[in-house]
Amino acid sequence: MTDIRLLKTTEKRLELLRQMNIHTLEDLVSQYPYRYEIIEEQYPTDEDDHVVIEGTVISPVKIFFKGRMSRMTFEVEDRYLQHFQVTIFNRHFLRQYLKIDTIVTIIGKCQNHRITASDLKVKPLQEIKGIYPVYSLKEGLTQKSFRQYIKKALHLLHQQIEDFIPEKYLIQHHLIRKENALYCIHFPENKKDIQEALKYLKYEEFLKFQLTMQLIKQQRIQEIGMAKDFDVTVFQNWILSLPFPLTTDQQKAIKDIVEDLKSPHMMYRFLQGDVGSGKTVVSLAALYANYLAGFQGALMAPTEILATQHYQTLTHFLEETPVRIELLTGSLSVKEKEASYQRIAQGEADIIVGTHALFQDKVVYSKLGLVITDEQHRFGVMQRKALKNKGQQVDFLIMSATPIPRTLAISMYGDMDVSTIKTMPQGRLPVITKYIHSASMKPILKDLKNYLARGGQCYVICPLVEESDHLEAKSAMQIADAMQRYFQKQYHVGLLHGQMKDEDKEKVMTGFLNNTIQILVSTTVVEVGVDVKNANMMVIYNAERFGLSQLHQLRGRIGRGKEQAYCYLMSASSSPEAKERLQYLEKSHDGFEISLYDLKLRGPGEVLGQRQSGLPTFLVADVMKDFPILSVARKDAQEMIYDYVQNHEYQGIMSQIQEKLKVNNEYVD
Ligand code: ADP
Ligand code: MG
Repeated sequence: MTDIRLLKTTEKRLELLRQMNIHTLEDLVSQYPYRYEIIEEQYPTDEDDHVVIEGTVISPVKIFFKGRMSRMTFEVEDRYLQHFQVTIFNRHFLRQYLKIDTIVTIIGKCQNHRITASDLKVKPLQEIKGIYPVYSLKEGLTQKSFRQYIKKALHLLHQQIEDFIPEKYLIQHHLIRKENALYCIHFPENKKDIQEALKYLKYEEFLKFQLTMQLIKQQRIQEIGMAKDFDVTVFQNWILSLPFPLTTDQQKAIKDIVEDLKSPHMMYRFLQGDVGSGKTVVSLAALYANYLAGFQGALMAPTEILATQHYQTLTHFLEETPVRIELLTGSLSVKEKEASYQRIAQGEADIIVGTHALFQDKVVYSKLGLVITDEQHRFGVMQRKALKNKGQQVDFLIMSATPIPRTLAISMYGDMDVSTIKTMPQGRLPVITKYIHSASMKPILKDLKNYLARGGQCYVICPLVEESDHLEAKSAMQIADAMQRYFQKQYHVGLLHGQMKDEDKEKVMTGFLNNTIQILVSTTVVEVGVDVKNANMMVIYNAERFGLSQLHQLRGRIGRGKEQAYCYLMSASSSPEAKERLQYLEKSHDGFEISLYDLKLRGPGEVLGQRQSGLPTFLVADVMKDFPILSVARKDAQEMIYDYVQNHEYQGIMSQIQEKLKVNNEYVD
């Protein structure tokens, strides 16, 4: 690594570079432009067209001042002897160069032979023609000086830039050399240069990512975990005692998990399935098998409501077994918590369900063998890690309800094994979804009243206010008040939002579950997991503010039984895009399709929750658009890891990655 001081520029500028996180010349040359400005002759074809014209000054320059601002005008003649009147602001200092007969190049907008110039060069077009990279820079640095730094850096690093990609793959994929790629990305001569450079850089980026993921996986596989042994007959009898037959995919997922538990390797599995596809019972089966093998299991949920519900489900489904289940949440009293810790530490609790409370320092497990997290995108990477570290070689299962296509899942979560539930339990009716162009409830009040009169319950989801929990809570309160005033004593309205205390949330949720509350006005706290079978109507305010996957999640709260359910997506937005997105949901009921549509529209960061899920951000590549490259990189990475393990090849590359892994836990889960 070479320090940027070699650039021999002022300390002030070096400091600006450091603020951009550029400390070495290698950092500097990896700072890619975010766009290019292309300067080539361009004549107006349409009104208000962008033009780049070379011409000769044919009139004296006129300047008008207004305070420190100036406006300068003059006339030019181009090579077809056409005349243009040029206006440019705040460049009066160029006046001295603009003598009659001087050749200039003008960049700007043209209308009716009048050009408003955004830039003016006192040079022939030939000399400035080209493609100019544009970087995102700190104030105080200019594009021009930055380009010069890069040029200097590339010069200083000449012949020291090694190809990360092995020769074999460079040839196989017709890739240019790294040094060349860097030249081409910073100083392209034509568009093809940029393409070639991007091809190299994207592939390199994906290959590094895949190697990292697979190396982690490789190490995990080598770690000897516990081979859990249990009585399969007891397990199967329990499965047969369930009140419903499992779907094919549920069976398949359970089989995957059971094999992992039995194998001496640590399980690290990602279970994804559409909302309502029945992931809970799969997690239950895993916990039960783990119990039969003699280990404690922990099930972590993102909210207290959900933890409580899981606790109830578990208690219900394991009623006939001697399993001791423990609910550990933040709202327990200090005394209750102490008692709970005791039971966990002494091995008097077999399955522990809870929220974040599960991984606090005070909680010591006696024999933790399996950790499951539900709705993973709500959890931070660190939290999961903390829980995992509570036991030795704990098996790990992550459940997600934002399903993504299997190929994408494998590529993104390259270090995990993936199980996917696609088939829905039998007899489910798709939720009838209607887009309503309205800001208020008016158009659907009649439907709502009829539905409530038939004994149903309804969710009302309030507008999403991303920046402020407080505002979100406020709007929820207003809506709840208005609804209660409207229905008077006829129906009870409950309110649920993020700023409420856990125990209050709990009360409201219980009220809704017992049908003492008929209308539940809520923010997205209900987004994940809860299951109230009698609630089959949902109204969502300002639906355009939500992502499609999120709306699908919300909608998944209803229609969980045999009854027909209705979801109203209200939006007053006049944007055609918003309308199109919401109408898409009227038609589609497949979480995989929806997430794919969403991923294409909004990118994986938005859909999967980049920061929380610990997905890497790629500098040049785009997971969706460049998926074919990602697939190739994945295959190559597999091959490289194989050659590394079997034939001790690629030692240098692998130790480079190991080193990186130690420094920053970028890709580590
Ligand atoms: P999710 O995958 O969204 O977490 P749940 O596990 O909450 O879904 O399951 C949704 C509902 O479907 C629950 O009420 C559950 O009891 C029920 N269910 C799960 N599996 C089946 C099945 N194979 N047949 C019928 N109902 C099922
Ligand atoms: Mg669930």
